[in-house]
Amino acid sequence: KVVCVTGASGFIASWLVKLLLQRGYTVQATVRDINDPKKTKHLLELEGANERLKLYNADNLKDGSFDAAMDGCAGVFHTASPFFFSSKDPQTELIDPAVKGTLNVLASCSKTSSVKRVVLTSSVAAVVYNRNPRTPDVVVDETWFSDPAFCKEVQNWYVLSKTLAEEAAWDFAKEKGIDLVTINPAMVIGPLLQPMLNTSCAAILDLVNGSPTYTNGTFGWVNVKDVAEAHILAYEVPSVSGRYCLVERVVHFSELVKLLHDLYPEYPVPQKCVDENPFPPKFQVSKKKTQTLGVNFTPLEVSLKETVESLKEKKFF
Ligand code: NDP
Repeated sequence: KVVCVTGASGFIASWLVKLLLQRGYTVQATVRDINDPKKTKHLLELEGANERLKLYNADNLKDGSFDAAMDGCAGVFHTASPFFFSSKDPQTELIDPAVKGTLNVLASCSKTSSVKRVVLTSSVAAVVYNRNPRTPDVVVDETWFSDPAFCKEVQNWYVLSKTLAEEAAWDFAKEKGIDLVTINPAMVIGPLLQPMLNTSCAAILDLVNGSPTYTNGTFGWVNVKDVAEAHILAYEVPSVSGRYCLVERVVHFSELVKLLHDLYPEYPVPQKCVDENPFPPKFQVSKKKTQTLGVNFTPLEVSLKETVESLKEKKFF
């Protein structure tokens, strides 16, 4: 029971490592700097870490960087990829680490005969960004793909990075005969194990921390523990194949703010939208395929509460 997790210090990966250790796996985990306690201390303190967690240095952009961490592994979970929205040089900061990183990891997998399945942390970003019509009746599912030309038009470079990375992964896996599964979560929230604030939890921090306005955006949301669990099931269940969307609920930020206000009437959640444009239309994301994995989605209200309590406990506000 030996598996590799890339980008182990991150929000989602930390939960993945925790649950893998709980299930008795030996985890060979990569971080960019094993000597940086901000990236490793919380991992080394996990139950089972002393006995079954090994840390390796690896960078998405260094060829062969993942070979050592993958040695002897039956499963590989590739989560390492930059997640932020503002960037001066999107090619270097977002697209290269996402696409070249994915190909670099898959190249190591194809050289390592022990590897039986690779689970890639893709995103709903690689599913929904296209010109397909959107109304509250539209149900997005795993047959949808984002359109790179559309991502470029709207200049959403993070979304482009995830779309291109998943496309490249499927092409490479097909060519080399790799058993690849992708997990495609929406905005992931929930308790933070890592000390650094990540982008999706920062969106919630903004709303409880005195920001005067909320974003005019409609997004799907899902709990980090469900996302980590889905990764493990995607590895363990033999019949699994293809992509799995993970969205508990799609809401506009105005609805998110209402939910937060009901949970925390004492916090100054913003009352006003950042602009006066019409709200983007709602849509649904199918839960059918992911439910066949055995994932039960945590309700958004619970995920919001867990996020805020964790942000408070870690003194982010
Ligand atoms: P974090 O920012 O918490 O973690 C990102 C991880 O990627 C970090 O461990 C980071 O390492 C690593 N990383 C970034 N660039 C490189 C690089 N060049 N080489 C090696 N490692 C690198 O984000 P999340 O946990 O939120 O995201 C993890 C994955 O999940 C990403 O693939 C993201 O696209 C995907 N995802 C996230 C969603 C969300 O809402 N959070 C939704 C859908 C998908 P370091 O600590 O050294 O910077």
